[in-house]
Amino acid sequence: MLATTHVLVGAGAGEVVHNPSLAFVVSIILHFLTDKIPHYWPKSQKQKNILVFVDWSIALLIIIFLLIMPTPNKTSVIAGAIASLLVDLLLVGVPALHKTKIGLWHTNRQPHRTEFYFLLTDLVFIIPLSVYFLAEVI
Ligand SMILES: [Zn+2]
Repeated sequence: MLATTHVLVGAGAGEVVHNPSLAFVVSIILHFLTDKIPHYWPKSQKQKNILVFVDWSIALLIIIFLLIMPTPNKTSVIAGAIASLLVDLLLVGVPALHKTKIGLWHTNRQPHRTEFYFLLTDLVFIIPLSVYFLAEVI
């Protein structure tokens, strides 16, 4: 799934679980569960690079937004959001970890689809969770 999706799902976990440590763990579990849902991933490397840049920029902006705004349960929300990003950051972003057993498992178990409409899978999470967090702080 997109980093934006993971951040919002992780933040949502923190919203429900009012304990930052527990939110961290729940968010990591949710990361692996949501990665198992068929989702869009482009074929060409150029498109992947653009998608990763835009996606991670948005994900980081969401974390900054959640930090700045008067988000309820802020510590748990941020813990959940960061935990969900850490999984991809470590298992995909760190080459030494990417090639480990868990790194390869994380990548190979994901049902990536190249049809653009599979982006809807991420939007099903992104749209309601974005509306929820926006409504909460406005
Ligand atoms: Zn992942």
